[in-house]
Amino acid sequence: MKAELIAVGTEILTGQIVNTNAQFLSEKCAELGIDVYFHTAVGDNEKRLLSVLEIASKRSDMVILCGGLGPTEDDLTKQTLAQFLGRDLVFDKRAVDKLNRFFASRPGRIRTPNNERQAQLVAGSIPLHNPTGLAVGSMIEQDGVTYIVLPGPPSELKAMFAQSLLPLLTQSEQQLYSRVLRFFGIGESQLVTILADLIDQQTDPTLAPYAKTGEVTLRLSTKATSQVEADAKLAQLEKTILERDNLAKYLYAYGEDNSLAKTVADLLVDKQQTLSILEQGTGGQLQAELSATMTDQMYFSGGQVRGQGPISSDSLVTEASQLRKELATDLTLAVSVAVKPQSTVDNVLAKVSLVLVSTSRIVQKEVDLGGYSWLYLRQLACLQALDFVRNTL
Ligand code: ATP
Ligand code: MG
Repeated sequence: MKAELIAVGTEILTGQIVNTNAQFLSEKCAELGIDVYFHTAVGDNEKRLLSVLEIASKRSDMVILCGGLGPTEDDLTKQTLAQFLGRDLVFDKRAVDKLNRFFASRPGRIRTPNNERQAQLVAGSIPLHNPTGLAVGSMIEQDGVTYIVLPGPPSELKAMFAQSLLPLLTQSEQQLYSRVLRFFGIGESQLVTILADLIDQQTDPTLAPYAKTGEVTLRLSTKATSQVEADAKLAQLEKTILERDNLAKYLYAYGEDNSLAKTVADLLVDKQQTLSILEQGTGGQLQAELSATMTDQMYFSGGQVRGQGPISSDSLVTEASQLRKELATDLTLAVSVAVKPQSTVDNVLAKVSLVLVSTSRIVQKEVDLGGYSWLYLRQLACLQALDFVRNTL
């Protein structure tokens, strides 16, 4: 399935807003195994939108439009699509009822004729209910191409996608099942190179890599009639992946809503180990991240935050040991980021010293890091620290 996204809105072209809907929709399409081949942004202009539709209808099986469903004159997406498909606009009853309720409950609001436009859709479309707004979305197939119309405001678009569109896209005997593998310590380009043939030949299951800050995730998706059937297919592909070039050693966790911080937090709870942290040069970010993911705060006992400054590895060990005693924790992690003199504003180089002290042992590690900004480098340092704890525990 070849899909294409068309964002309608002059604000995008003038740089007033960023086309985040395209990112959201592309990510969702990838999860569904729908290939997105083109992103287009076009202004609120009938002629230009018609020309974009003309091109899209020739090269894509699915055309997803977003924006321009509102009540104002410049909102012309549905009108233009109707014209393009040679169809009329009709009222959707549910959307009209919603408009009626909206205005009935707000007696002061004046209902102008253009408000009605929000309840219209291209004749023959399947309506897509809008859980957080008034404009109705729609989906229609004509000449082998499916046209989907979604609202511009991201809160409306996301809610409509999840509640109204997704069930339609996944409607079949088979369902889409996914498994997300999370890797740390390997870059996206390296991972993609190692898996190049698998990515190129993918059909079912599909394989999609995503780069996040400091880590890479791989989403394996398959269509199946049961979880058991899906698990079998996904497990086989996972095995093939992890056997490649020792990739298993970079895999730290599974799941979309996971992170290194959460993995460490879970480990601490699991092993019933309390942790304190000494941070130097990371602005307290590590403690903030860890405590944000911990549901059971009992295992994280806080710590110290210090500004940047030189510290020898011996002193770091001594101070971590002291803090461990003071806060009476099983473990103390110390992280110190020392920026190197050859750094520039957009290429920050640093040495990160890590120490983990427990009742019985002291483990140390040093990592050289580079980043395009100080904030990014700090984030990388925190991830290194978390990965260090994960591996040491
Ligand atoms: P409204 O009823 O608010 O007019 P609409 O469906 O007509 O909604 P637009 O008028 O195109 O949508 O955009 C409304 C707002 O939604 C924009 O000002 C912007 O904040 C947001 N928006 C629109 N398109 C996008 C996009 N592609 N990415 C991110 N935000 C967007
Ligand atoms: Mg609008």
